[in-house]
Amino acid sequence: MHPREGWGPAGMSDTLLACRDCGQLHRAPGSVLAGKGLACVRCGSNLSRYPPLPIEVALALATTALILFLLANAYPIFLVSLEGRAGQDLLISGPLRLSEYGGPFAGLGMLVAGLSFVVPLVWMCLVVIVLAGLRWGDPALHARFAPLWKTALLLYPWSMLDVYLLGTYVAYTRLAEAVETNVATGGYALGALVLVQALLVLTLGRRRVWDLIADPRPVAPRPGEPWVACEICQLVLAAPATEAPRAERRCPRCATHLAPRQRGSLSVTLALTSAAAILYLPANLLPVMTVERFGQVSTYTILAGVEELLHLGLWPLALLVFFASVVVPMAKLISLAWFLHMIRRRSGRWLRERTRLYRFIDFVGRWSNIDVFMVSILAASLQFGFLTTVDPEAGVVSFAAVVALTMLATAAFDPRLMWDAAEGELR
Ligand SMILES: [Zn+2]
Ligand SMILES: [Zn+2]
Repeated sequence: MHPREGWGPAGMSDTLLACRDCGQLHRAPGSVLAGKGLACVRCGSNLSRYPPLPIEVALALATTALILFLLANAYPIFLVSLEGRAGQDLLISGPLRLSEYGGPFAGLGMLVAGLSFVVPLVWMCLVVIVLAGLRWGDPALHARFAPLWKTALLLYPWSMLDVYLLGTYVAYTRLAEAVETNVATGGYALGALVLVQALLVLTLGRRRVWDLIADPRPVAPRPGEPWVACEICQLVLAAPATEAPRAERRCPRCATHLAPRQRGSLSVTLALTSAAAILYLPANLLPVMTVERFGQVSTYTILAGVEELLHLGLWPLALLVFFASVVVPMAKLISLAWFLHMIRRRSGRWLRERTRLYRFIDFVGRWSNIDVFMVSILAASLQFGFLTTVDPEAGVVSFAAVVALTMLATAAFDPRLMWDAAEGELR
């Protein structure tokens, strides 16, 4: 990739920021980097910044989150009772219940366990270890935390306790119509955990942590020199020669393979989007769950679930689920197809809007899992035999696959290619 002009003479305290969305390089003096929101001059996207709070605050929040996670798992989220029979919902109840159905449902159970238990737990542990190590460890050994921090960043989009909480809320509201329900200790812990985690993400500052792991300035390219930005840690450095040995084509900070753009981005995005589009039909046409009450069986598709919420008069919730489960997956499929089409046409129209839309679908994509979590929670907590029983159906497996595939497709898509294509730089 050609270096862009106009980033002035090098100053030792300056940091180079390459926009993740359009590839524009910026030079930010150290004083500007702290606390202020910086926007890309070319596409308007947010450039990462240092949060104003010290790293100790983030460490305290991460530790609190870990304790709350233990509480949320040790105690039930809510209790249910029907005609003298009692049940409870633990965080892990859904996956355990799904695994009993075997086949694809066991796979779904593993996915739910991963998104709501394994990934959040590993993520929180990694954050605590890295922050504690950077705070108290020998600065000469800070580089050792790079693989851990890289893993934490890769896991983060799949840590879905916030989405899970909303799924629990929808499940709880639907349950409250049929049986007696009470929020329990685990539920309060989960609510507090989601809040603490949101604060933690705000105070963390990915770039600050990377810059504590290794100072980016010594490897900064000289003005006019070809450069490359690391996909993972955003380090900007002089582009290695194409014939350089493999080891030299890795990021010196996080060991990621250096490439000007995500490799195979367009073909992988196309493959994943097509697979998701095929599964979109069964995901919406097949029932996602069956409810049996006093021998009467009713099946629910995603849309029927929304309708039921409307019938119950819970229209804000109905609107939310409709948006997350129906609008978002569809919007992701259409947007990704549109981006690919515009790149093929080398079009320069609506570049800023397309970039903004990309960031939006990347941000909201994970919320489509509300329904997956809801079905898993209902199946786990409503097992009262003849009185009321909920079972998952094939549609929820397709639906979960659509959500996962579109999330992967969005992650594989490199928005900078839209800008390259418009400027005729795409090879
Ligand atoms: Zn930009
Ligand atoms: Zn890197």
